[in-house]
Amino acid sequence: MTTLRMVLGDQLSTTISALEGADKRNDIILMCEVIDEATYVKHHKKKIAFLFSAMRHFADDLSKDGFQVRYIRLDDPENTGSFKTEVARAITALGVDRIIVTEPNEYRVFADIKTWVTDLGTPVEIRADHRFLCHADEFQAWAKGRKQLRMEYFYRLMRRKYNILMDGDLPLGGQWNYDAENRKPPKNGLDVPPPFHSSPDHITQEVIDLVSQRFATHFGDLLPFHFATTRKDALAVLHHFINERLPLFGDYQDAMLTNEPWMYHSHISFYLNCGLLLPLECAQAAEQSYHDGHAPLNAVEGFIRQIIGWREYVRGIYWMQMPNYATANYLEAQNPLPAFFWNAQTKMNCLRQCITETKENAYAHHIQRLMVIGNFALIAGIDPDKVNEWFLIVYADAYEWVELPNVSGMILFADGGYLASKPYAASGAYINKMSDYCKGCSYNVSVKNGPTACPFNYLYWDFFIRNQDKLRGNPRLNHTYATLAKMDPVKQAAISDDVTRFWKDTLTNGLS
Ligand SMILES: Cc1cc2nc3c(=O)[nH]c(=O)nc-3n(C[C@H](O)[C@H](O)[C@H](O)COP(=O)(O)OP(=O)(O)OC[C@H]3O[C@@H](n4cnc5c(N)ncnc54)[C@H](O)[C@@H]3O)c2cc1C
Ligand code: SF4
Repeated sequence: MTTLRMVLGDQLSTTISALEGADKRNDIILMCEVIDEATYVKHHKKKIAFLFSAMRHFADDLSKDGFQVRYIRLDDPENTGSFKTEVARAITALGVDRIIVTEPNEYRVFADIKTWVTDLGTPVEIRADHRFLCHADEFQAWAKGRKQLRMEYFYRLMRRKYNILMDGDLPLGGQWNYDAENRKPPKNGLDVPPPFHSSPDHITQEVIDLVSQRFATHFGDLLPFHFATTRKDALAVLHHFINERLPLFGDYQDAMLTNEPWMYHSHISFYLNCGLLLPLECAQAAEQSYHDGHAPLNAVEGFIRQIIGWREYVRGIYWMQMPNYATANYLEAQNPLPAFFWNAQTKMNCLRQCITETKENAYAHHIQRLMVIGNFALIAGIDPDKVNEWFLIVYADAYEWVELPNVSGMILFADGGYLASKPYAASGAYINKMSDYCKGCSYNVSVKNGPTACPFNYLYWDFFIRNQDKLRGNPRLNHTYATLAKMDPVKQAAISDDVTRFWKDTLTNGLS
């Protein structure tokens, strides 16, 4: 009996359920680089190079460990270009009796795999993905009957379930959340440690050559390329973070500095999302660092909350709300995506910095995504389809299960408040407080109206005016709407004029 065990590009963990019980003599592991996946959106060049290289290294390690691996390269002349047709080709070539695969993380791929049994005429066993800490069914059971979900309560459940930072049944230190001690503005002269760099080996170099030939028209800089592409190097990134950055992670979690794209963040999302790192081991490594006296509780708790809280929470929402989540547009936002999202040519320094760094690194840290790029997309009323496509393309950690809830739920309020209790809209004052971007900007953050005003200032109020029918009843926005009710009509007219001028400049010159 020949069993085909399929391992997808984001399932690069030796503990993946598809490999459980594998028979090295008789089973074949199938891995394939297919053009359908590389181009269903035009992913950043670095993202494609990273994933193909990580897949090739993983396949090599499996072969060295004695497994039989059928690895289909993108440039293999026989490559048929999709998962289903590659499985069909393997069935014919190898005389496969059954297929085992771990449930994929994208709705689109899952829908495809469900058609394999009938279309390919071979039994398919779809196994649960145990790498996540909360299965979709468990999340649904928790969410059932709740009108609005709160990440904080879900997070406490995960803390208890995995006994992380617990003192019996109580949170270590007496509090579940230490955010009040976190999120300081950046100090002048912060000495941010350099990020972990790995150098391309011959496998990565081959992939870089392939990507530069085949994906030249895709967004982003391919070089320099320093991502880890093996489990060993991904672990080194994790330990580099724990040793060098974790102690200040909480303090500067929301801080942004010019030419400091990496700040005190961990840079592990690429590796977590493709399976080179596992969420529980990352959370436990951080917890150990607290017990060793290396990192303070506010930093460790803040980091662990991102991994066992936010990451699992957005995944739960994705599987509960798909497929409708992908088309949600509660605020009926319809504006186009400005050209500067692709070329970074804007006079708004904050956006220029964050988009340039995204283009160079296929990475921006959370607060750049949330409070600069995301905040702009929200208050400027950009069509969620366009924003989602952009975020899925440009980041090397982007997969729909994590990108879509963050974009449609967290930044755009397109789900009407299911994920976040209010829109994360902010004026230029927030960006000025948390970064040094405004100092180098052509606009003036303290000017509210007119051609020199920071566009975030008038777009902010325009957002609340435009959406008042839908947002005024939200108790968390009482203060905002009370201020708006007192606003002079002349000022409201000036806001409207500014927004008209802003869009005219953006669409005609592309240079707001
Ligand atoms: C608009 C928007 C889009 C995003 N798109 C993605 C995406 O496509 N892929 C992705 O992995 N993350 C996404 N995030 C979440 C977060 O910004 C990234 O996980 C983080 O910036 C990755 O960098 P890091 O590893 O240095 O994270 P750190 O700041 O060091 O955080 C540690 C880890 O916590 C997890 N995490 C933190 N916040 C979130 C969150 N909101 N949702 C899920 N996981 C979280 C990540 O796994 C991350 O690696 C998005 C956030 C926003 C606001
Ligand atoms: S002034 Fe406004 S546009 Fe310029 S960097 Fe500051 S927040 Fe951004």
